[in-house]
Amino acid sequence: MEEGKILVTGGAGYIGSHAVRQLVRAGFQVIVLDNLSTGHIKAVDPQAELVIGDVRNLGLLDSVFTRNKIVGVMQFAGKIIVPESVSHPLSYYDDNFTAVISILRAMHTHNCHNIVFSSTAAVYGTSKEPSITEEAPLHPESPYGFSKLAAERLICDCEKAYGIKHCIFRYFNVAGASEDGSIGEAHPVETHLIPVTVNAALTGREMKIFGNDYQTRDGTNLRDYIHVLDLADAHVLGMKMLLEGKDSAIINLGSDKGYTNKEIVETVGEVTGHPVNWTYGPRRAGDADSIVASNKKAKELLGWAPKRDLRQMIQDDVNWRAKHPTLYGRQGNKIPSEDKKRLLNYTASRHYSSFYEDIENHDRDRLRKLRETNKLN
Ligand code: UDP
Repeated sequence: MEEGKILVTGGAGYIGSHAVRQLVRAGFQVIVLDNLSTGHIKAVDPQAELVIGDVRNLGLLDSVFTRNKIVGVMQFAGKIIVPESVSHPLSYYDDNFTAVISILRAMHTHNCHNIVFSSTAAVYGTSKEPSITEEAPLHPESPYGFSKLAAERLICDCEKAYGIKHCIFRYFNVAGASEDGSIGEAHPVETHLIPVTVNAALTGREMKIFGNDYQTRDGTNLRDYIHVLDLADAHVLGMKMLLEGKDSAIINLGSDKGYTNKEIVETVGEVTGHPVNWTYGPRRAGDADSIVASNKKAKELLGWAPKRDLRQMIQDDVNWRAKHPTLYGRQGNKIPSEDKKRLLNYTASRHYSSFYEDIENHDRDRLRKLRETNKLN
């Protein structure tokens, strides 16, 4: 296996921080690059190196790659909220697509040939299949889904052109936290069903199940949930697969099993011992009746299957919240002095900082020449 470090972009976020921890446990040397727009320093494993900066900053990427032998990249940095992507498509394409251009450009320049990429079941859109395979038609229904599909496509094109190999994971619903309750899901506003329901159980506040007239066994939506640590384990296996020289792959990460929203709410009540205060609300726009992943390919290629069940996901989320009533606390722009010591300081290389400017100047030049040749104004 090729020796060197793994660069984890977005490694201070929910899924990225769990992947960093599992990579460190598996013996990898890890560098996290995160702009902390939604991530938290405290979520980053103390054994990982940490660079605060933006993945779109080619100059910064260039200096990180120049000073370290990076053999693989795990790309988590990006945005994930579907309705927000509808109102802010430019920002979604910028975070989820432009960022991937920068990473691939840096990888190509520095001869790094392995990328593990976070994609999503949203690339399939609404599927009629009871269990979605990787061959299902791709019909994203939101700018979020399209931005991820565009990035997937670019990554595949870069294999043909530059030999950069990939393991693209399409996630289904993710929940849970680390088993010791030290890291977990921490968004300013939780919108996902499991944390919303756990918060309702712990506080007694009311929550709503959106819609009860869907084509499922009890009329509420049915989704496929996997534990964040199972997801993280799959990423470690995916990176090992690439480093061992195996072929690129696009793989679903799910459990091949679905739970309805009502079943989730009931299970949260049982696990916490607090019945959840809930009512039915109207349907939420864009919710498909039922979404379940086939995980046959993950089993075949990675020898991976989820080890942690729904009750474990809920229990771990509860422990994390019980231990962290203010989640990671207020971070703001201030970085506590004990965390400052962990930061690596990189100066963006000049050449790459002006890279996009160069491209624009080049285009302007071409345009000028075209105008001259065609005698246009
Ligand atoms: N949901 C709900 N109440 C909430 C949050 C979510 O009924 O407060 C439902 C949502 O409509 C969907 C399911 O829970 O049917 C899973 O939604 P989530 O946002 O967790 O993940 P998604 O499947 O949209 O990625």
